[in-house]
Amino acid sequence: MRVLLVEDDESIAEPLAAGLGRFGIEASHVATGAAALAAPPADFVLLDLGLPDIDGIDVCRRLRRVSDVPIIMLTARGDETDRVLGLEIGADDYMAKPFSTRELVARMRAIGRRTRPAPAPAPARPDLGPLEIDERTREVRVHGRPVALTPKEYDLLVLLAADPGAVVGRKHILETVWEPNFFGRGKTLDFHVATLRRKLGSSSWIENRRGVGFRLVLP
Ligand code: CA
Repeated sequence: MRVLLVEDDESIAEPLAAGLGRFGIEASHVATGAAALAAPPADFVLLDLGLPDIDGIDVCRRLRRVSDVPIIMLTARGDETDRVLGLEIGADDYMAKPFSTRELVARMRAIGRRTRPAPAPAPARPDLGPLEIDERTREVRVHGRPVALTPKEYDLLVLLAADPGAVVGRKHILETVWEPNFFGRGKTLDFHVATLRRKLGSSSWIENRRGVGFRLVLP
């Protein structure tokens, strides 16, 4: 995520940019409204309202005219009129100085969740060759032959089949198919892998990566 930080006070901008960096957020910093309006499009704008050239509210209004980029205003205490005006003209939120980087990042994430576009359609199901899994009816077939699985065997197969060829860790399997802290689970997993292999008709369907996990191998 690329963040544009518009702040003329170096004593605020520098530690803030460094603090964001510790959260893995790269901020490019400009010190004037004109530079903010000329900057390349960002994923997020942090906008000080008291700028030396153009009023921050005006910068916000002009940014909003050309972009839906999330904007958080950075305001001094007591700037209530500006905050309200800023929110009315399309800023997403404000932070009253002084604030912690942690709180700012939390607000940014909350706004990101609100403004994120609708999720993309689910990716196409991987081609499993002779293996068919109907997740609506929980029916499994191999070469057209129905295979009767227990619920756990079925869940285990679906998990492995989500990404054929990829090794799925034992811990991840146990926590997904069984519950965390399920007693005696290591042996239970090996037992279910064994019965699942037998029902699928060949042990080569599921490869054991010793000490790591299992993967589905398509013939
Ligand atoms: Ca300022």
